[in-house]
Amino acid sequence: MSFDTLGLSAELLRAISEQGYTEPTPVQRKAIPIILDGKDVLAGAQTGTGKTAGFTLPLLQRLSTGPVNNGRRPVRALVVTPTRELAAQVGESIKTYGRHLPLRSAVVFGGVKINPQIATLRRGIDILVATPGRLLDHAGQKTVDLSHVEILVLDEADRMLDMGFIHDIRKVLALLPASHSRQSLLFSATFSDEIKQLADRLLNSPELIEVARRNTTAELIAQRVHPVDKSRKRELLSHMIGSHNWRQVLVFTRTKHGANRLAQQLEKDGLSAAAIHGNKSQGARTRALAGFKSGAVRILVATDIAARGLDIDQLPHVVNFELPNVPEDYVHRIGRTGRAGNEGEAVSLVCIDEHKLLRDIERLLKRSIPCEVLEGYEPDPTIKAEPITRGRGGNNRSQPRKQAEGAGRGQPAGKRSTNKRRKSGDSPATAQHRHPRSGRSQGKNSAQDGRGNR
Ligand code: AMP
Repeated sequence: MSFDTLGLSAELLRAISEQGYTEPTPVQRKAIPIILDGKDVLAGAQTGTGKTAGFTLPLLQRLSTGPVNNGRRPVRALVVTPTRELAAQVGESIKTYGRHLPLRSAVVFGGVKINPQIATLRRGIDILVATPGRLLDHAGQKTVDLSHVEILVLDEADRMLDMGFIHDIRKVLALLPASHSRQSLLFSATFSDEIKQLADRLLNSPELIEVARRNTTAELIAQRVHPVDKSRKRELLSHMIGSHNWRQVLVFTRTKHGANRLAQQLEKDGLSAAAIHGNKSQGARTRALAGFKSGAVRILVATDIAARGLDIDQLPHVVNFELPNVPEDYVHRIGRTGRAGNEGEAVSLVCIDEHKLLRDIERLLKRSIPCEVLEGYEPDPTIKAEPITRGRGGNNRSQPRKQAEGAGRGQPAGKRSTNKRRKSGDSPATAQHRHPRSGRSQGKNSAQDGRGNR
């Protein structure tokens, strides 16, 4: 099936073919005609499925065929994303696909000066891509008017809720025209009850699009677990990268401090590495990403939030240096590889402390991940599981997420989920060394690490 049959204009088809895309991905096939029809959409699509073009193409078409206001251009389409990187990428996609159309777009996010953004907004734009915090800053300063928005897109809505942006989203919604007089599109990799509630509030009789099975990982990604002692993970990682000659590897840690430390250690091992997380300035994050994309940096060490939205084509290797505390993050992490039809490999280095996290992930995936003990890196059976500690101080207190990681605002993730996580651990007194899937060997606080230090 080609793009021609979806009802897209010649200008958009030209831009698509200039990108080298020959056929639409499943989410594009489903979403484009529905969005062109003006309907609301609730789409369950992971990153890597081509979802950005899935909403950007029909959005551009609808705006370009509507009445063009050549005077002061009000914002007619608003795309809200959880992270700066995702905002920048969506902004790029809009520019790329819209290059033959007379529409103007802009991206606003926190962590950079607001004045240039104000100047851009003042000149008038049709499409605004924004993270919630900075968008509300502009709204508060009356440097943006959202009362003419015809199309609203919430991208990666699950992550926005996860980052505590629900209050900001509510505030943004209050600034928009009523839901029946705009088109609303909600994209989310997972469908929690919270997402369903948000969808009920936001969408009018939405069409439901689901391309990948819920909470499952892309079929093309080969997943593997290597049990290894915590103290030997770095050595094993360097060994795997060196011996397989991996040229581009995205490595996940749980904390910002852990990301920094690992990047430094890898550098000492002679492997070019950079860390990307919320304590880095926007400039440093952009530079690290550019170096990684160009091949100058071989290993990018990232926290979950910072990695969210990274669009790196054909990324061959993702390594979970540490498993995420929240199983859904595993799906997001490994979604970085095997993108848009390319094969990828996701390797998890799992120490005894993380066995429960692994079980939670496998429960979510409804499958077990192949497990292989590597020769020379066999776990020491005398080591007992310990609670997983948080960040630099190593304390286990639950603490709110620092919003700097995303767009600089919002509320901490809800209490309820923290309690849920806390309950799910076993007592450290019962901890024994076991095979990762043989069960109950996780420390009490292992899963209670909130998400504040990533
Ligand atoms: P996304 O899921 O929107 O982050 O897109 C993932 C990647 O797929 C991006 O690098 C896009 O450039 C690419 N892509 C999107 N649509 C297509 C298509 N129809 N054919 C090939 N690649 C695509």
